[in-house]
Amino acid sequence: MIKLALVVGHEEDRPGARAVSPIDANEYAWNHDLAKMMADHVNAMDGAQAEIFFRDGVGIVGAYNAVRQWGADAAMELHFNSAGPTATGTETLYLKSLSRPLAEAVQDATLTTLGLRDRGVKTPQEASGGRGTRNLSQMGPKPSILTEPFFGSNTADAAAAHQRKPELAAAQAEAAINLLKSLDAEDIWVVRASELNVRGGPGIDFEKLSWGPLPNGTTVEVVSRHGDWAFIHTAGGEGFVHAAFLT
Ligand SMILES: [Zn+2]
Repeated sequence: MIKLALVVGHEEDRPGARAVSPIDANEYAWNHDLAKMMADHVNAMDGAQAEIFFRDGVGIVGAYNAVRQWGADAAMELHFNSAGPTATGTETLYLKSLSRPLAEAVQDATLTTLGLRDRGVKTPQEASGGRGTRNLSQMGPKPSILTEPFFGSNTADAAAAHQRKPELAAAQAEAAINLLKSLDAEDIWVVRASELNVRGGPGIDFEKLSWGPLPNGTTVEVVSRHGDWAFIHTAGGEGFVHAAFLT
């Protein structure tokens, strides 16, 4: 069972940016509604479950504590962007590299649905000098992303999002669940050691491979287990690591 947490950005009495007509609503209200549509869609999928979480009264940390207690496999916090009237496009934020595949999947689904400019997947630092870092650092080794599908300050963006809201909910929900299912099937783990040696075989007698060691936080795919050792794939290559340093 894949469990996707949908976190509604902002709070009812501090509801975030306001979108122009035809939305005429703040982030909190618009995304609460979007989250309900997404949850309905996820809960109708096989092997998937969604739950909506709020920051009201508990703040960012409290909301994500509840998300982790629920046992979420990933979290998606819903926002929209705001700047001048001509700023436009879709961006999705992630912090850790293990969250990037989920960010890319949701970004692609959003671009296909809304047809707005591709501003890319970004870290908070790249997007806005760090805004969103706290939100995106609460999930430990589970993927965590923050969506900015459009600019509420732009009339054309707001019109596209308003018109295609149900399609946006369905596309984002489907993209996220399909990606999480593929990660699940791939048995993805994260390195928890300052440096993890990669060896040519399952034991310390085997040579260290020159493309290693792996830095803390590296995402690896475990292909097979050999006692205390795991045979792994990464973007950089393949080899054996001591499995005690994977979480
Ligand atoms: Zn926001």
